[in-house]
Amino acid sequence: MGIDINRVRKDFPILGRDINGKPIIYFDNACQTLRPTQVINKINEYYNEYPACVGRSNHKLGERAAKEVSEARKRVSKFFNVKESEIIFTRNTTEGINLISHAFKLNGGESVLISDKEHNSNLIPWLMLRKKRINVKFFRFGDLEDFQDKIDSTVKLVSTAHVSNMDGTSQQIEKIAKISHDHNAFVLVDAAQSAPHKQIDLKKLGADAVSCSGHKMLGPSGTGILYLSEKSMGNMDLFMTGGETVVNSTYDDVVFEKMPHRYEAGLQNYAGIIGLGEAVEYLKKIGMNNIESHERKLNEIITKGLESEIGKGIQLLGDAKPESRSGIFSFNLSGMTYHEVSLLLDKTSNIMIRSGQHCVHSWFNANKIDGSARASLYLYNTEEEAKTFVESVKKLSSFGK
Ligand code: PLP
Repeated sequence: MGIDINRVRKDFPILGRDINGKPIIYFDNACQTLRPTQVINKINEYYNEYPACVGRSNHKLGERAAKEVSEARKRVSKFFNVKESEIIFTRNTTEGINLISHAFKLNGGESVLISDKEHNSNLIPWLMLRKKRINVKFFRFGDLEDFQDKIDSTVKLVSTAHVSNMDGTSQQIEKIAKISHDHNAFVLVDAAQSAPHKQIDLKKLGADAVSCSGHKMLGPSGTGILYLSEKSMGNMDLFMTGGETVVNSTYDDVVFEKMPHRYEAGLQNYAGIIGLGEAVEYLKKIGMNNIESHERKLNEIITKGLESEIGKGIQLLGDAKPESRSGIFSFNLSGMTYHEVSLLLDKTSNIMIRSGQHCVHSWFNANKIDGSARASLYLYNTEEEAKTFVESVKKLSSFGK
């Protein structure tokens, strides 16, 4: 059926804004997406109508807030096809990964296996475990044979990205999960760049835990989702403890809550959680398969439009085929730094992209590349915007020569 782009864009009033007589072209969606009016209204609704505590206050406002948070958890669990008790609300992908890196029981001498193209959020928490004599091993992102070579009986946990935020390439998580489980290893997936852009049935994906960010999928800033399968609980310790994580306590003892509350310590970002519930409902209505094919079409326009320059004035990161790069076009221009590319696109065409190492410093360092300029697309971007991007990059490229 596809996306009714003109209708969708009406939900994002910021897109109608002109700066210097030119409309905004927002291509920095891998960092944060824009939010539709429906999500903004839902956040305001909390503050205007029921700004109360959940699970503590039994008055009318508290009850309403509890009902809305519970509805948000229901929406998120349906969106991913898992149980409500398996959905933990976090602040972001990073927090979900940290939760697992702290709570998963590992002993000295055991190993964690990650790829060589992870975001710092899925690298640093594991490197920190080296202090406890946990080994961190690496496989080549997207290379199943290398993965199979690297996994051994010391590997108790595999943690890797579904889609790379650096170049948009992806991995076959179902196969990674199967191989890992054959080796009795737990599987955590960083879905920060996949959950917002494609249909994910977490039961089919087969991972034990999956972390993603609400702000990358139309949700409020500083919201995240961690799926943790019920059957993993046997090997999980606690993370942050305190209010809301316990059923009862004495001066000597504690009875901890069940999932998910044992991992949601202290007063939560209720407005954010409720807004995130609205965001996934919005995505569901648009259709995740529609979003995936829309982004692919735009990336095809960009890649085809710049094809004649790629390998000459333009160095493309990742696979040459646009369908292998999700909605990401990561590149460098000869004779110009990636920060200059980003600044000039902003200044001359109101095109907003990201430049730098995209928190994947380790990969850039290992590959002796300084960084890149990265355009990342989403459901409200248009074919016209993709064409404007092509023309603007071509113009910059001719300056750089
Ligand atoms: N993992 C990937 C693949 C990402 O792209 C990002 C953010 O860009 C993160 C993790 C961290 O996300 P957050 O800052 O929302 O925790």
